[in-house]
Amino acid sequence: MIYKNKCPLCHGREGSVEIECDDCNGTGFEPEEGNQFAQCQNCSGDGSVEVEICPRCLGEGTVEDDDS
Ligand SMILES: [Zn+2]
Ligand SMILES: [Zn+2]
Repeated sequence: MIYKNKCPLCHGREGSVEIECDDCNGTGFEPEEGNQFAQCQNCSGDGSVEVEICPRCLGEGTVEDDDS
């Protein structure tokens, strides 16, 4: 059985969405050798990035959930 659920990443919003940065997992830091608190390059330390299209639902606003 496949369910359609509201996308947990963009919450079904259309257009550009702010999502948790993948590189730093939302921390804003990207530890590197010698600098544990190096700022994440991908999100500039914000911990979130704005994307045009949600990578989870590809802009659909819903995701298919398999309950098996
Ligand atoms: Zn989404
Ligand atoms: Zn980041």
